[in-house]
Amino acid sequence: MKYVLVTGGVVSGLGKGVTASSIGVVLKACGLRVTSIKIDPYLNTDAGTMSPFEHGEVFVLDDGGEVDLDLGNYERFLDVTLTKDNNITTGKIFQSVIEKERKGDYLGKTVQVVPHITDAIKDWIESVSAIPVDGKDGPADVCVIELGGTVGDIESMPFIEALRQLSFSVGQDNFCLVHVSLIPVLGVVGEQKTKPTQHSVRELRALGLTPHLLACRSAQPLLENTKEKLSQFCHVPAANILNIHDVPNIWHVPLLLRNQNAHDAILNQLNLLSIAMPPALQDWTMMAETYDNLTNSVRIAMVGKYVGLTDSYLSVVKALLHACISCSLKPSIDWIAASDLEEDSAKSTPEAHAAAWETLKNAACILVPGGFGDRGVRGMILAAKYARENSIPYLGICLGMQIAVIEFARSVLGLERADSSEFDTDTPDPVVIFMPEGSRTHMGSTMRLGSRRTLFQTPDCITAKLYGNTQYVEERHRHRYEVNPEVIEVLEEKGLQFVGKDETGKRMEILELPTHPFYVGVQFHPEFKSRPRRPSALFLGFILAATGKLEAHLKSHQNGV
Ligand code: GLN
Repeated sequence: MKYVLVTGGVVSGLGKGVTASSIGVVLKACGLRVTSIKIDPYLNTDAGTMSPFEHGEVFVLDDGGEVDLDLGNYERFLDVTLTKDNNITTGKIFQSVIEKERKGDYLGKTVQVVPHITDAIKDWIESVSAIPVDGKDGPADVCVIELGGTVGDIESMPFIEALRQLSFSVGQDNFCLVHVSLIPVLGVVGEQKTKPTQHSVRELRALGLTPHLLACRSAQPLLENTKEKLSQFCHVPAANILNIHDVPNIWHVPLLLRNQNAHDAILNQLNLLSIAMPPALQDWTMMAETYDNLTNSVRIAMVGKYVGLTDSYLSVVKALLHACISCSLKPSIDWIAASDLEEDSAKSTPEAHAAAWETLKNAACILVPGGFGDRGVRGMILAAKYARENSIPYLGICLGMQIAVIEFARSVLGLERADSSEFDTDTPDPVVIFMPEGSRTHMGSTMRLGSRRTLFQTPDCITAKLYGNTQYVEERHRHRYEVNPEVIEVLEEKGLQFVGKDETGKRMEILELPTHPFYVGVQFHPEFKSRPRRPSALFLGFILAATGKLEAHLKSHQNGV
């Protein structure tokens, strides 16, 4: 196994994840098989318990792993399927070491950060990097490891030490370190400053790691003399100093790396030049350039709880982008804080209320994404009602599907207090209830997580056609609550149809409203499996419906065109 380690210096939020996945893309384009590991030095065992407000979305894998959103970037960029073990956290490592200690595996020894924690990190990396993630047999050629945080952080020290040991044990030819840093510009003259990078490289060296390449983030392209300075003071050949300046969209980053021959520098370090091909990135280039040149846009209203930080719904945003691009459209997402739509806000913040409604009414389609807790739920219900009554395409994902059911029960069945037992434990009409797969009482494991099968109940529905008339689909889940099986009959009598169910027939997976052009709710999260050139069928249908092209698409699909 050959390793490419990506570290970060100076500040966080440099786009280390995008850089690391772009390196993977370029290596893959050279004909190599690539896997990846993301190290998050925080103490949480996984991202499941972290707030999307603080840390962005929780990404869900096929195996049910709740992981950092960077793993989503890797899956999308490299078109791979990762496992929960591809995300290492301090919590996971310590837990495994403490468990071993309790079992008596260390035979009366003092258990210490060095060597026990560092050994556990090395073992984890070596065993996880060998798991195939691209559908082929046998381990990949290269594993890209991204170390979260900034070099010098207290919490990343055990990882740095473990990686130092790893670099030594696997040998020169099998280890390449790319350090991502920032080149700020100061003053009116706009001088590009190299000092912060010099310091962070010095810090890295003091910890025993030597960068082979520098990836410098900057607003404008690096000047020649900035590069020379960096080379001289950081002890990195000028040809190995890459510049990632601001680009119109992130798909340009692999191209930027290729244009600077990053692959040659990395392959040279890894002694892979003889087996690699020149990078084939024609498709990728076309995709990046198509995106830049799109002129027409479609307005999508996103009605959610966390609208301040768009990373909270990163995969939904990406899935919309993939779908829009395949329709030659630019997505124009209007973020609406669900609570602004509520009646209370008409009194407390009338301007925000009016603006939210105006935005909603100007949108071509409405999406209610997943979420937990009752904040904004009343606003989401109003949005779903507006979409249903005015024939506006609606896509409800997970919570968004539950919202559609509550709204329908209230407005059409006349059950005014219909609710989810998540929001109102005393509701007389619990149309959405707690339906864990495992124990009802043991909180830690009550979430229904990961890939599950949905069987289409009829071929005669929009979603079955969009998915290409298959019998079933497998999509990723992350929820505790579901539509109450006892109310299905009454809901269906009034026109709501549950066209997708799980294998037992008890769990409702997809709802449609046949009298509406596109009113779809799904209990799963289709956004996690959307890929740049393979948009999720549901997102594609949603965008086609928003632009009046759904029917034509379904017809041509049906005829096999
Ligand atoms: N809160 C809801 C549940 O637990 C929806 C979850 C979601 O949207 N991911 O079922």
